[in-house]
Amino acid sequence: MEKGLETMHQKLQEYARLLVEVGVNVQKGQTLVLFCPVEHAPFARLCADAAYDLGAREVVNVWSDDYMTRAKYLRADEQVFSEFPQWRADMFYSLAKQQAAFLHLRANDPENLLGVDPDRILRANKTAGEAQKPYRELSAKNMFPWSIGCLSSPKWAKKVFPDLDEAAAVDALWEKIFAAVRVKGDGTAVEAWKQHAANLRRHMKILNDYNFKSLHYTNSLGTDLVVELAENHIWEAGGDVTASGQPYMPNMPTEECFTAPKKTGINGEVYAAMPLCRDGNVIENIHFTMKDGKIIEAHATSGEEVLLNAISVDEGASYFGEVALVPFDSPIRKSGILYYDTLYDENASCHFAFGRAYASTLKGGTQMSKAELAAAGLNDSITHVDFMVGTRDLSIVGTTFDGTEIPVFVNGNFAF
Ligand code: ZN
Ligand code: ZN
Repeated sequence: MEKGLETMHQKLQEYARLLVEVGVNVQKGQTLVLFCPVEHAPFARLCADAAYDLGAREVVNVWSDDYMTRAKYLRADEQVFSEFPQWRADMFYSLAKQQAAFLHLRANDPENLLGVDPDRILRANKTAGEAQKPYRELSAKNMFPWSIGCLSSPKWAKKVFPDLDEAAAVDALWEKIFAAVRVKGDGTAVEAWKQHAANLRRHMKILNDYNFKSLHYTNSLGTDLVVELAENHIWEAGGDVTASGQPYMPNMPTEECFTAPKKTGINGEVYAAMPLCRDGNVIENIHFTMKDGKIIEAHATSGEEVLLNAISVDEGASYFGEVALVPFDSPIRKSGILYYDTLYDENASCHFAFGRAYASTLKGGTQMSKAELAAAGLNDSITHVDFMVGTRDLSIVGTTFDGTEIPVFVNGNFAF
């Protein structure tokens, strides 16, 4: 093998190992459910090997294919988009009930569904969301570990690096991915992650100690937004723990501290700082007007219809469910690249999500019923969509319950 190829193989192997060992943290006797684009089968095999090395009971693979997805949206029977096969819902539910680990590998073309009838996407999302409710409830109770990681692929890489030829773009994107997930190919990634998670938890602890009542966001884009946090919210960062005590890292990379807003406590104007890639479309220059937590006006200079559909899949889709802080100087933002993938772009920027809140961001939340979570001020929805708002000049001032004002972000970065 050539030197370059050998290093590439080592990096891929180390990345696969990291996703399996730190991402979902597969345990002896645990099943791994592996979602992977079919053209990345060789990488899925590396993950399967890593899982079996760790004593996994079985690796269940679920392939996806951008071409087939697009062909279906363009050519399948109209009725298909209002159906979700019960066997498919049952399969994921039963695996979740067995506390299998779910690893989602993604390499999507960000514009795979460009030009598809938005009504088909809306109906398919609604139907899938409804059918998978039992599965999602187990996830909300933190019954099983899950993680998402991205893989470089030609269409995605060309979107990120339009000036490079395809092969060079794929390599360049791989290098960015490796840098973001701290993989050098020398076997140090697992240790580097432990260090990184500890750093994230330092900010998390400070935020939890302040126990802010609200955060006031302002910047030169025109954002002027007051966000009340759910009473008894908790900030999370650097990974999660399942109900049975298994630590895992839901997102790789992750650079965020995040918590739950109070559903009805958001007022003002908010402007997105980066485009949002959603449902195979790119939505640019999002602007929301918020009143008592609800999006009462929504605009975008492109992809507005996709946006309007996304915030109307159900009642909760027009309320926020996540408040996340990411320094402007985060390594992903510093790369100066727009990734057109929410996992990467959200970890480059302070963001909010419209749609469901995470029960784990409320004290005792994973033990609560839906009604109790709602009474505690948490939003619920079949959807959860992050959009980025952080800028170099973003200021965030926190107000504590006794009325003290504390700078949280100054010039786009943590003030502490
Ligand atoms: Zn987030
Ligand atoms: Zn989110």
